[in-house]
Order: sequence, then structure tokens, then C-alpha cells
Amino acid sequence: MIQSQNPYTGEVIEEFKEYTKPQINEAIENADKRFKSWKKTSFKERENHLKNVAKELNKNKEEYARDISLEMGKPIIQAVSEIEKCAWVCEYYAENAEAQLAVKKIDTDGSRSYVRYEPIGVVLAVMPWNYPFWQVFRFAAPALMAGNIGILKHASNVMRSANNIQKVFQRAGLPEHCFQNLVIGSSKIEAIIKDPRIKAVTLTGSKPAGAAVAGTAGSEIKKSVLELGGSNALVVFKDANLDETVATCVPARFQNTGQSCIAGKRLIIHESIAEEFTNKFVKEVIALKSGDPFNEDTFIGPMARKDLAEELEKQINESVKKGAKILIGGNRKDAYLEPTVVTGVTKDMSMFREETFGPAIGITTFKTTEEAIELVNDSEFGLGVSIFTQDMSFAEDIIPEFEDGAVFVNELLKSDPRLPFGGTKTSGYGRELSVDGIREFVNKKTVYFK
Ligand code: NAP
Repeated sequence: MIQSQNPYTGEVIEEFKEYTKPQINEAIENADKRFKSWKKTSFKERENHLKNVAKELNKNKEEYARDISLEMGKPIIQAVSEIEKCAWVCEYYAENAEAQLAVKKIDTDGSRSYVRYEPIGVVLAVMPWNYPFWQVFRFAAPALMAGNIGILKHASNVMRSANNIQKVFQRAGLPEHCFQNLVIGSSKIEAIIKDPRIKAVTLTGSKPAGAAVAGTAGSEIKKSVLELGGSNALVVFKDANLDETVATCVPARFQNTGQSCIAGKRLIIHESIAEEFTNKFVKEVIALKSGDPFNEDTFIGPMARKDLAEELEKQINESVKKGAKILIGGNRKDAYLEPTVVTGVTKDMSMFREETFGPAIGITTFKTTEEAIELVNDSEFGLGVSIFTQDMSFAEDIIPEFEDGAVFVNELLKSDPRLPFGGTKTSGYGRELSVDGIREFVNKKTVYFK
């Protein structure tokens, strides 16, 4: 039995019976059948469908947001923004997919040669709970516009949202089985990837889940895209505008109660401004309002599950044992962990080495630019880095030094449908969003006429 539990009250909201093998088979069969007609629809038809999906999301955003807040504790205002962003990605691909997948002519010695971008079939999406709608829609919108079909295996703690996503597509009037949710736990995934009707898999989640899914896909010679964990650095150089940088770094770490892959998890500050910056930063963190996710002024809710809060508490305590110092926070009650700022974090500590997936940040100082770059790159992850400086030519000069998938200057890492999104190292491979995202799951067919 799969359960949704409200992390703020501890109450079980709903229980879901897992799909049986015949039910899974039927869903895959229906998806495969639908592909045969969906791939023949015109871009105009798909565009109309995706625009209706965007309308449905905007129309019923409070309803969908409410279940997100109930299931994983996201403050309601942030849950509504998440739904609005899903509408944006649907509109973006509705308007741009045709141009992004237009035939590309290439001059050769043939009389005509070109590349066509064709859909590949049913794609499995294995998704995490932290942005229960956004993670799914940033896959689904380009996949459907490209002519593919989506099957979702969502995180077990957000199964109501997973069902709601299927409902969005139904309410928007998409042909049946273009997008289906499978109510299953992760033990069923291997067999599904091995099913010949499943052509590829995308996973957003942790490294162990990514390794398992990519391993199975690899053994079947099927394409995979992995969006995994991150331990982004926020690097504050000594010429940074401190007030503006603090105002950016606080949400960079604490929005979504710190449960974001691209959150700034390691604050790396030049030693000459470290004290002044830290004081301002701590003052802003103290001002963050914690509480009931359904209060509109709540910024920090409970974490999505009690075990996740316990894990973060352990990482903080281990770092403290090695000499780090808690400036504020550090206390936990059930799934709620106080917003926590820890200073004196060094490279050997959990808060530096591991991904911290919640409302806690570690501060490390540096003396030279080389040292700052070395600290940023000294991570198994490579999703992104934010650098703060007023010298734009200095910023341009150091951008090539970072090993990450993204560098943001004077801004927090954020996803935008127009920009490619993805990581390096154990943060995964492949890209979502933009033209790069829609071209991940297509057959790039070369055509040549003598
Ligand atoms: P998770 O435990 O890896 O779960 C993600 C999904 O994978 C869930 O649907 C889960 O199903 C499934 N799964 C878990 N173990 C699996 C296995 N061995 N084989 C196949 N599937 C498996 O991650 P999470 O706790 O939900 O999410 C947090 C992680 O996601 C963090 O590391 C975060 O950084 C990362 N993330 C990355 C991005 C990005 O874009 N790079 C975005 C958001 C989150 P069950 O729930 O049924 O176990």
C-alpha cells in the first residue's frame, strides 16, 4: 500500500493500492497504441492541446496546489507558483516546438540532405516529490509536443499529486492515454524499463535511484536522462553588493524549505567580508516565517517527511562534532527543522561533502579566487554555481573554471523553459528544457538523396 501523509500534522491523507502486473501491462499497451495515432498529429493540434493544459492548470491552480501542500508540506503560495510555472512550460513548448523540431537542411554532395526529428514512442518518467508538478511537466510538455507518450512513476509520498497530473491532461481534453500515472513503488521500475514498448527513461532524483534506472536502461540499450542531486555553491567575492547578495542567497537556500536540487547549499565567502555578510544573512534567516503551510505568510514549512529531517539533523550534528558552529537553528521537531546556519564548515564535513536537502546552510571562507574555484569544484556534484561580484569582466574570466552545468552571476540558480537545465559529474547527464530538452527523446533521422 502506498501512503500520502501530511508532514505538518502526521495524519495519513490517503492510501493507494499498487497497480497489479496486468494493470501495468494494460497501461503500457494503451500508451503504445496511443503513440501510433499521436505521432501523426500536427504540431498545430498538439499546440492546441498543450495550450488547453496550460489553461486547465491556471484555472484550477488552487486545487492542485492544496494537495501539494497537504502531501509534502510546501507553503501554499509556493505551491501555487509551481502550478503557474507548469502552465508556462506548456505554453512555451506549445509555441516553440514546431520551430525547434523543424527539418534541418545540411549541404552535402547529395542533391538533398537533411535531419528530421521524429518521436520515439512511450517514455517512462521517474520523478521526485520536491516539486511534484514542475518536475513532471518539464518532462511532459516537450515529450508530448515532440509526439511522444508519457508514463509516470512518481515518488511514493506524492501519489495524490501524481493522480492529479493525470487528471489535468484528462480535463484538458488530451486523447486518452497520452499521459498516464502508474500507482507503483520503485521495485516495479526495472521490469517496466525492460518492456520493449518503453523506449526511454528520464529520472529526476537521487544518485542511487539514477544509477539503478540508468543501469537497467543501459543493459537494454535504451536512452536515459538523469537529473540528480546537487550541492551548489554561492560564492561571495569581496566586491559584491552585500545587501543584494544576502537578499538573493536567502531564498536560494531556503525556498521550498531548502528541498531543491539547485538550492545554494554551500555558502563560500571571501574572508574579508565574511563577518559582515554572515551577520546580515543570519538576520534575514531569523526573519523567515515558519509554520503551517496553509498560512499565506509561511515561508518555511515542515520537510516532506520526518526521516528526511532526521537525516539533515544528522548531517548538521556530524559537522558540529568536527568543529563547525551553529549560529542559529539546529533544532528539530518531527518533520520540522529550524532554518539553520552553520559556520566554520570545512571540506571534510558532511555539510560540505554531501547534499543537504533542507533548510540548513554551511559557511566556508576563502582567501583567493583560486581557492574559491577549488572549493566550488571540490564536490561530486555539478549542477550549478552562483557567483556574486560587481566586476562583470572578472565574472566572464572565471566562468570557464567551473565544472558545473550552469553558472549564474548575481542570481540564484533557477530553471527557465528557455534555458537548458542539467548537470555534470554525479548530478547527471542530458538536458531538460529549451531546444536541448525537446531533442533528448527524438530520433534524429538523417536523410540523403543522391
Ligand atoms: P529518490 O529517492 O531518488 O526518488 C526519486 C524517484 O526515484 C522516486 O519516484 C522513487 O520512487 C524512485 N526510486 C527510488 N529508488 C529507486 C531505485 N532504486 N530504482 C528505481 N527508482 C527508484 O529522490 P527523492 O528523495 O524523491 O528526491 C530528492 C533527490 O532528487 C535529491 O537528491 C535532489 O537533489 C534530486 N533532485 C534533482 C533534481 C534535478 O533536476 N537535478 C530536481 C529535483 C530533485 P519511490 O518514492 O517509490 O522510492
